[in-house]
Amino acid sequence: MSKPVVAIVGRPNVGKSTLFNKLIGERLSIVDDTPGVTRDRIYGECEWDGRKFSIVDTGGIEPASSDVILSQMRSQAQLAIDAADVIVLVTDIRTGVVATDSDIAAMLLKSGRQVILCVNKCDTVGSPPPEFYEFYNLGLGDPIPVSSVHGHGTGDLLDLIVKDLPPEEEDKKEGELIKVAIIGKPNVGKSSLVNKISGEERCIVSDIAGTTRDAIDTTIENQYGRFTFIDTAGLRRKSKVEDSIEKYSVIRAQMAIERADVCVIMIDASVGFTDQDSKVAGLAHEAGKGCVIVVNKWDIIEKDDRTMIEYRKRLEEDFSFMSYAPMIFISAKTGQRLDRLFDLIKHVANANSMRIATGMLNDVLAQAVARVQPPTDKGRRLKIYYMTQATVKPPTFVCFVNSAQLFHFSYQRYLENRIRETFGLEGTPIRFIIRERG
Ligand code: GDP
Ligand code: GDP
Repeated sequence: MSKPVVAIVGRPNVGKSTLFNKLIGERLSIVDDTPGVTRDRIYGECEWDGRKFSIVDTGGIEPASSDVILSQMRSQAQLAIDAADVIVLVTDIRTGVVATDSDIAAMLLKSGRQVILCVNKCDTVGSPPPEFYEFYNLGLGDPIPVSSVHGHGTGDLLDLIVKDLPPEEEDKKEGELIKVAIIGKPNVGKSSLVNKISGEERCIVSDIAGTTRDAIDTTIENQYGRFTFIDTAGLRRKSKVEDSIEKYSVIRAQMAIERADVCVIMIDASVGFTDQDSKVAGLAHEAGKGCVIVVNKWDIIEKDDRTMIEYRKRLEEDFSFMSYAPMIFISAKTGQRLDRLFDLIKHVANANSMRIATGMLNDVLAQAVARVQPPTDKGRRLKIYYMTQATVKPPTFVCFVNSAQLFHFSYQRYLENRIRETFGLEGTPIRFIIRERG
């Protein structure tokens, strides 16, 4: 499911990580008194008042050393402006408003984005202390007092966050509108692709003012359907300095992936596959999104009749963990195969949201089991009694078996492939949930 993204920004030590943990209800990121300790976990899921969304703690991206705090804060704020649906600026009642807070507040204000101003460490219940009113000077409207440690005010904060999320009707129309995230390293050609597409296709200009991030996404319509290209990478912004820091581009990618139905994993044909490509593709795989591997800049490759076959073979090995993903060679510059790309995106989105009737599923299961016997261990054979699809996006199947231990990975793989072949489930991860029954 595509999920809205909420970004937490703020100076080191104001309590972003503590707040993040409180909101996701787990103690996963490392909280430390030393400013700027890098955190393990900066991404979490949250549900409030029936809405599901993701939260990212932008402060956890990299350790802040005191001489570069301001520039890092600016990068984090820019990331939030580009990529988040809702921005929460965290400040600290104990330090009051400091110059960096004003600077970042001004930057957020200028972006025209809606910002929720949170004043943390208001630990005493009741009316906030006089210092609280100083935060009105930031010009971001009513600040809200919170104690991340005790949890006071976090419910009010969540109410405000949910109020600012994009309307849910969007989810209901999901079948018609396919949200696409183009992910990949800097300079592979992501912006060029969006520019080419929006130059050639009919662009639907959003009538919502610049206060929501929908306005910076690119929505187009063509014979294949309606597509929104998520502009998490600040695709149409000139300066892309922040992206040169690998951590930033990975977190940008993750924010885009959350909001997407389909991920276009783009690599540069003249550079080839790198570790970072597999990292980013791995995020899309784990998030259960439809995936297409796109090799861009195919126009500058010198080729003969074997080049594509060989290139494809190498990449299939590199991306072996997502062998289900179709691969296409394009040129964002010349427009080569862009039609086919839309066709693939549509196809993969359909596969990702496919529902298979239980009867058909169990027919395939029976045939598969008849063809290749399930594994045995110490005279005991795996029995798969029944299978049913629990959810879509990605297709997730519950299997009732006699012993989970006997359901080896290789046999799961075999069944997965039979299901893929039978139902044409190309381009989407598939999940099995295994339940033992006596
Ligand atoms: P970050 O650098 O902004 O992520 O800040 P942390 O979450 O690591 O918190 C910095 C320090 O402030 C830690 O010692 C926290 O325990 C403390 N802290 C965070 N929130 C609160 C709060 O609501 N009240 C109090 N008294 N301390 C807090
Ligand atoms: P991004 O950082 O991934 O958004 O990459 P850009 O779209 O900014 O492209 C980086 C550079 O690659 C620019 O100089 C583009 O003109 C160039 N480029 C992008 N796509 C192609 C392509 O298909 N063929 C060629 N020859 N150059 C391309």
